[in-house]
Amino acid sequence: MSDYPSPTFCVMPFLHLSAKTSGALRLCCESPNSDLSPRTMLGKDRVEEIWNGPYYQEVRRKMLNGEKIASCQICYKKEEKGVTSRRMEYNEAWKNKLSPSTWEEITALKNQGIQPTPPQYIDLRQGNICNLKCRMCNSMTSSTFAKEWQELQDSHQTVGFDEENDNLKFSKRMQPWYESELFWKDLEFLAPHLKKIYLTGGEPLLIKNNLKLLKRILELGNRDIEISINTNLTVISEEFLEVFSQFKKATFSLSIDGVGKTNDYIRYPSQWNELERNIFLVTKTPIRLDITYTLQAYNFFDIISFIKWVNRHLVERIDYIDWNILDTPSFLAHTIWDRPRRMSYIQELDAYLKNTENEQNQKFYYKLREKFPLLKAPQASPDECEHFERYTQILDQHRGHKLKEEIPSSPSSLSSKSKEKAV
Ligand code: SF4
Repeated sequence: MSDYPSPTFCVMPFLHLSAKTSGALRLCCESPNSDLSPRTMLGKDRVEEIWNGPYYQEVRRKMLNGEKIASCQICYKKEEKGVTSRRMEYNEAWKNKLSPSTWEEITALKNQGIQPTPPQYIDLRQGNICNLKCRMCNSMTSSTFAKEWQELQDSHQTVGFDEENDNLKFSKRMQPWYESELFWKDLEFLAPHLKKIYLTGGEPLLIKNNLKLLKRILELGNRDIEISINTNLTVISEEFLEVFSQFKKATFSLSIDGVGKTNDYIRYPSQWNELERNIFLVTKTPIRLDITYTLQAYNFFDIISFIKWVNRHLVERIDYIDWNILDTPSFLAHTIWDRPRRMSYIQELDAYLKNTENEQNQKFYYKLREKFPLLKAPQASPDECEHFERYTQILDQHRGHKLKEEIPSSPSSLSSKSKEKAV
């Protein structure tokens, strides 16, 4: 018998609250938008009321009864392709983390969707302040990206990315919900129950409110929390490290999308030497490290170089690698490259992993192997491919880059009929 109450059960709506940079709530960061209606926001609506309000109750009831949820399609689609979904990962992780009695309480059908314990895990993004403008980012998530996008708009260089134009408009109107009295009052309600906090942004180490938030939680007397900060680690402050280290488990989840120029090209204007120095500095502290590698068009043919760097420098020091296969914006996904060329690289990658896998590193790479079906997906539409070329050209011009010079492993044409070899 399954460990879970139903095949659609996900633990997240039973213990988690996730807010976008705008403060809008959704079921988790994997769920693009919430079906919460009207737009439910932190700092405007009380957590206590939202948590057992009609939407959460309905979602929980449906999940316990094996029904599907509209805003969870991303997980169901991955599962249909035989790929491990976030739903499956979260269920497994939290089943191990929670005591058997808490797990039983969560999965009890008798509660009919009411969750008596307040959220134990929160995901907060207190604004979009960021020093980088990663190519796959957007104005809601990076203030620097928003500035560049405005410059491009002012010089009439449109790449037809309408969603990004909307993001730019919205980021200008964004209310600082994280400065509202209600949010800080809600934090007092949440603090005693919290077991995990995930902070991102923007760049969380540049967002002053994150330090304020961590200090406030310490004041409220709960240190028994796992804090995970998703950071580009281009800036670190001693004060932050000192406060951060006071929690039971402090983890930096490093966003790295390649080695050297590959990372700097994607995550512009990151400087690889400085980043590497900061990473090595953190390895000398008790702070735990894991990596989020966003696999996309620009770094697809550079995965092996990245693995070699991890094996050389970090394999003994990291806990986890999250192989995040980019699907938004879709024109930057790895699928813009033709399938034969990708298949040939996957073969090379597979052979490389087989040759180098050992007890120490296989825990990171079996997760990558699990995603091979997604890496082999059919090529994107001609419109998406054209969009990729136009977007890359406009950003390259604006930033003084040339893709092929910065990332030599990138194919120079989108078709495998080109005489050039991909790697
Ligand atoms: S099923 Fe997937 S999208 Fe829905 S809450 Fe769980 S992890 Fe998030």
